[in-house]
Amino acid sequence: MDQAKKILVVEDESHLAKGLKFNLEREGYEVVVAGDGKAALECMREHTFDLMILDLMLPRMGGIEVAKNIRKNDTRFPILMLSAKSTEEDRATGLEAGADDYLAKPFHLPELLLRVKGILRRWDWYKQPVLGQDIFHFGKMWINFATGKANGWSGEFLLTVKEAQVMKLLITKKGQVVTREDLLKTVWGYDREMETRTVDNFIARLRKHFEKKPQKPQYIVTVREKGYQFNADS
Ligand code: CA
Repeated sequence: MDQAKKILVVEDESHLAKGLKFNLEREGYEVVVAGDGKAALECMREHTFDLMILDLMLPRMGGIEVAKNIRKNDTRFPILMLSAKSTEEDRATGLEAGADDYLAKPFHLPELLLRVKGILRRWDWYKQPVLGQDIFHFGKMWINFATGKANGWSGEFLLTVKEAQVMKLLITKKGQVVTREDLLKTVWGYDREMETRTVDNFIARLRKHFEKKPQKPQYIVTVREKGYQFNADS
């Protein structure tokens, strides 16, 4: 049997934290609870986790700041953000700070468990090397999928988790068409809810990094009415 996945729950409302711990443990996860932002970062330094469930409103240090702190050293660690605020703007702020997913309070427990499972599954997929290697080269550029570092046409930079995941799927299937639906399902884990437009926005961002002429892409090409295709030899 696989080793139990370790989850850090960062939540200051103790009844909610207890409920989460109880239900996640019942699903077979190992759970540690931190009651504020600073305690969460201390836990992260002392232990290794597979996922963090992070409340946005916390004493001592807020969730956004916790996420940003983690992203300074680790571009990939999976974070599911919880928040009583549920406007599009809050969602966007959370995702921009580096959260992988965002769930508004009050949430239904089955929905949370589903998201947790989805993030961990994507994370397992993402940890696998791409075409048997951690670093993928194309032209003079490269992407290190183990660190998130990349070398675009204008120099080195850090890919976000989602950007790296989009590139990972395209490169894994290089020479084949990848539909927007494939990308949404594999990278975001949603079937509905999210718009295919999200994918297009990510592609535009990635082209700025990897295409000298984003309007005339050489590597990340559009296949009309189908999706996208990565073209390059390693
Ligand atoms: Ca709170």
